[in-house]
Amino acid sequence: MDRPEVSIIVAALLPSHGIGNRGKLPWRLKKEMKYFREVTTKTHDPLKKNMVVMGRNTYESIPVKFRPLKGRVNVVLSRDLDSYRKKMEQEVAANGSMLQLAGSLDQALLFVDPTKIEEIFIIGGAQLYKTALDKASHMVDRILLTEITSLEQLQLDTFLALDSTQWEKRFETELSSYLVSKGLADEFQLTGNHEGNFQYDFTLWKRK
Ligand code: NDP
Repeated sequence: MDRPEVSIIVAALLPSHGIGNRGKLPWRLKKEMKYFREVTTKTHDPLKKNMVVMGRNTYESIPVKFRPLKGRVNVVLSRDLDSYRKKMEQEVAANGSMLQLAGSLDQALLFVDPTKIEEIFIIGGAQLYKTALDKASHMVDRILLTEITSLEQLQLDTFLALDSTQWEKRFETELSSYLVSKGLADEFQLTGNHEGNFQYDFTLWKRK
């Protein structure tokens, strides 16, 4: 059976593609968080779940009461899997199959049973995005990039390495079709969203 499609989902500040600062998100955008939650959670088949794959730093940046992200199979990556497993024993035991640990992205994808998992989302952070976007891997089918602009100057120390010689932004209609295919039509305004000092657009990128 085919493996489920793999999407990267990320919100980045233009023009630098900054995504984080001091281990946290540099902004708090409620509607953007709703988009992330719904896109990564929604499945066609009510018997299936989506998988979210993330690096250890990103998992640890989620407040304990909100993790693992609910309604999704969470896979957390660490290269020091034995130590991390010890540290996470109780959290993993408490969450059963909804929280899994893996030593590499390839290993994470081994967990995937296409009869149970509908889509896979790579949700950060920078290190994991870099591995997933490696030119040679061709593992990622699409990038769901929220392009943010800000009126205020922000401190940023973590960036998305998006190679525009490899990836191109697609027409808004292609993102609409993807959202319709997920049953999320009409829920989101794709461009010109405003929250506080921020403006943002939801965009879709594919390989050239
Ligand atoms: P990551 O979340 O990528 O975590 C890095 C750690 O995860 C590594 O040290 C390693 O853990 C493990 N890891 C990562 N890739 C692999 C791999 N391929 N195989 C095995 N283990 C792996 O951290 P970053 O510091 O790069 O990013 C975190 C920042 O990004 C934060 O500021 C966060 O808020 C931000 N962020 C922003 C997002 C956005 O959309 N704007 C989305 C997600 C995060 P170990 O050290 O245990 O070996």
